[in-house]
Amino acid sequence: MISYGKQSITQADVDAVVAVLNSDWLTQGPKVPEFERAICDYVDCQYAVAVNSATSALHIACLALQVGENDLVWTSPISFVASSNCALYCGAKVDFVDIEPNTGNMCAKALEAKLAHAKTMNQLPKVVIPVHLAGQTCDMEYISKLSKIYGFSIIEDASHAIGGKYYDKPIGSCTYSDITIFSFHPVKVMTSAEGGVALTNNSALARQMQMLRSHGVTAEDDEMTEPSHGPWYYQQVCLGFNYRMTDLHAALGLSQLKKVDSFVTRRHQLANIYNQLLDSRLVTPLNQVDNRYSAYHLYIILLNEPNKTLHHTLVSGLRDKGIIGHVHYIPIHLQPYYKEMGFKPGEFPNAERYYQSAVTLPLHPDLTQDQVKYVVKTVHDILG
Ligand SMILES: *Cc1c(COP(=O)(O)O)cnc(C)c1O
Repeated sequence: MISYGKQSITQADVDAVVAVLNSDWLTQGPKVPEFERAICDYVDCQYAVAVNSATSALHIACLALQVGENDLVWTSPISFVASSNCALYCGAKVDFVDIEPNTGNMCAKALEAKLAHAKTMNQLPKVVIPVHLAGQTCDMEYISKLSKIYGFSIIEDASHAIGGKYYDKPIGSCTYSDITIFSFHPVKVMTSAEGGVALTNNSALARQMQMLRSHGVTAEDDEMTEPSHGPWYYQQVCLGFNYRMTDLHAALGLSQLKKVDSFVTRRHQLANIYNQLLDSRLVTPLNQVDNRYSAYHLYIILLNEPNKTLHHTLVSGLRDKGIIGHVHYIPIHLQPYYKEMGFKPGEFPNAERYYQSAVTLPLHPDLTQDQVKYVVKTVHDILG
């Protein structure tokens, strides 16, 4: 079986985790801050708050940006449901901005048009969450300009994108956003088993997210509203959660972070082989834009025409041959839970057309060239 995405684990990763098991701290020890510092150095950002998943990171990022009831959060319909659920956790309302068909990313022009309209209705979003599909950034320069004109905050859902770059700056530097999120789920570019991180250059946001990940509790005198009772004292100052990352997970993350560049290089090599071998009369890979270096979390091809039947035949046919192709993503607004909120088919036509043509082929560092050839041959056989 060839899966669409998978972790790459070596003895060094195993040793790093075992060392923590034999240490004094399984959680709340030194590995989490060490991991946070290493990520900051890697992406050139000031603060990192490691948590138990990217979903948790998105939640506390929204809370830190004071998303609450009556607020609006906009994201892309072509993403994992976590990108929009985070707003619902805060009691806010969600809306979507349609994608650009050739990259699958949120279309900045569509965002601009939607903002202009929302302004006339006095319904501007508080936060916009661009999602860097497959590891290639959105047009962050443009989106950031719009944020200044229309006064919204930006959370980059870069769950796919650690190791990617934008104009030679690492994704995660928060040059064009308030907060950036990475996921370390095993199918992503690098893993901590479960885990995620929220990055920011704003110390107040970082501190708020640190408190939110651990019950809303502080042990710092200057953050307390009443005098300390003594050295054992802590105070709850807001409603937080237990979203902490453990030291075991952080140790794995640290060990994997050392390899992230080689993972991404390998992903590019394999993607290039796909690009060369795939029959361009039938499919095209997601467009790679100049000045954007993808982390290539996913290798996504598009049928040259959306075709529900052929799309189904292709993904099922691959699975029959032991190749776990996938579809990233089912448009979020078409999920039953979202339809119950009032979203309807036809609202985001580019996303819906994309859904009938996008197929994710296997891509991960341990995939071999022969396996890529086998996948390509199988795709061609099925398409005829
Ligand atoms: C995987 C993913 C998430 C959630 O990540 P977890 O770490 O599994 O919570 C959020 N957004 C996107 C775009 C993802 O791909």
